[in-house]
Amino acid sequence: MELKLYNTLTRKKAPFVPIDPKNVRMYACGPTVYDFAHIGNARPVIVFDVLYRLLRHVFGVEHVTYVRNITDVDDKINARAAEEYPDMEINAAVAEVTSRTTDQFHEDIAALGVLPPDVEPTCTSHIPQMVEMIEVLIAKGHAYEAEGHVLLDTASVPNYGHLSGRSLDEMIAGARVEVAPYKRNPADSVLWKPSDDSLPGWPSPWGRGRPGWHIECSAMAKEHLGDVFDIHGGGIDLTFPHHENELAQSCCANGTDTMARVWMHNGFLQVEGEKMSKSLGNFVTINQLLQDWPGEVLRYNMLRTHYRQPIDWTVKGLEETAKTLAGFFGGEDLSQLEGKFAEPVLEALADDMNTPAAITVLHQLDRAGDRPALLGSLRALGFAGDLTDPRAQGVDEASIQAQIDQRLAARAAKDFAEADRIRDELAAQGIALKDGPDGTTWELTR
Ligand code: AMP
Ligand code: ZN
Repeated sequence: MELKLYNTLTRKKAPFVPIDPKNVRMYACGPTVYDFAHIGNARPVIVFDVLYRLLRHVFGVEHVTYVRNITDVDDKINARAAEEYPDMEINAAVAEVTSRTTDQFHEDIAALGVLPPDVEPTCTSHIPQMVEMIEVLIAKGHAYEAEGHVLLDTASVPNYGHLSGRSLDEMIAGARVEVAPYKRNPADSVLWKPSDDSLPGWPSPWGRGRPGWHIECSAMAKEHLGDVFDIHGGGIDLTFPHHENELAQSCCANGTDTMARVWMHNGFLQVEGEKMSKSLGNFVTINQLLQDWPGEVLRYNMLRTHYRQPIDWTVKGLEETAKTLAGFFGGEDLSQLEGKFAEPVLEALADDMNTPAAITVLHQLDRAGDRPALLGSLRALGFAGDLTDPRAQGVDEASIQAQIDQRLAARAAKDFAEADRIRDELAAQGIALKDGPDGTTWELTR
């Protein structure tokens, strides 16, 4: 089977040919662990999970190595730790924030049906590899030390800007490039920076300090996947500066002309038509959504849009998705089923992971009544048929029924005020009553 993938580097869709079909190697940039992951962060996690499953199907489970890191060294983490634990020693405070956030991340994405990667490296356990790579870059004339910092000399990098398609001038003009007096060139990115006692730091030839973000992934990818591997992924915002710099550093240090053969980027997620941001009040975490929706609904909803397109995350979309999945599953538990992509589903996925086309096929299979093909494909896509309503947890059905009976008794006694009080009390708990010809039923409201 021919698997086609779109490559940001060549801006083309092309057949995917692994370097070694016995070990297909993929790296995806993982979360920076300082706060709950938001639903936008869930997108690359789900997208590359589907790719992981697809690669395992095509090449064999044991022939795919997926690395997704945990970014546990970052100034946003340091700031959060100092703010939350002002009286604690900084390393302990940072460890508190990162371990708690990592656990939360694992719990959240497990609920989205995401498989653990083969390796999940952390920055803190790869500092020597980062230091070593920086030393090589300096020795090869691609990096320089200035005022306790080590910077990548972007002017020395052949093809710098190639991945993101930007010229150096454009990058300098871009708001995301930090201008600093010690830089030879404003585009030069930080490989190492000094840490005072109030910050986490590690010994290095340039004094106690900490790595910059981009070198972290270069070093972790090299350690676990080698100098050149197959696929590197992340959200589209990572193309520049993060991936551009990873690519530059890795090629210059390793003496290669490529880092990953294929670079893949997912489009951005917005909420109800607007960019998600804390100031707009539409910032929503995976964890919050999981309190209202089954994880599988969130997962499927993500797959309704092609991964390279922007996605508009809406409650209406979630409601549609919940209905679709309930129809597909028909109450069946898929967890013990063997995942098996039906041929036309696989064909759609093989075309640059066209999940909307795969979903069209799922509907066709459903209409045709081909349950084995439908459920096998859903299982292979990571669904288990679990639509347990999280809002129903802790709901005491017997107590609701008792209140419904009391309300009926009140009505029979013409005590309408009491009947209304009971209805309103249940409504306040998110339980709506429906009076019908067969009596009163209840449902959970959102
Ligand atoms: P961060 O923790 O900020 O490094 O982000 C982790 C991952 O989430 C990266 O791959 C980002 O590109 C991705 N990401 C962040 N925000 C969004 C968004 N709104 N939509 C899609 N992906 C996002
Ligand atoms: Zn990265």
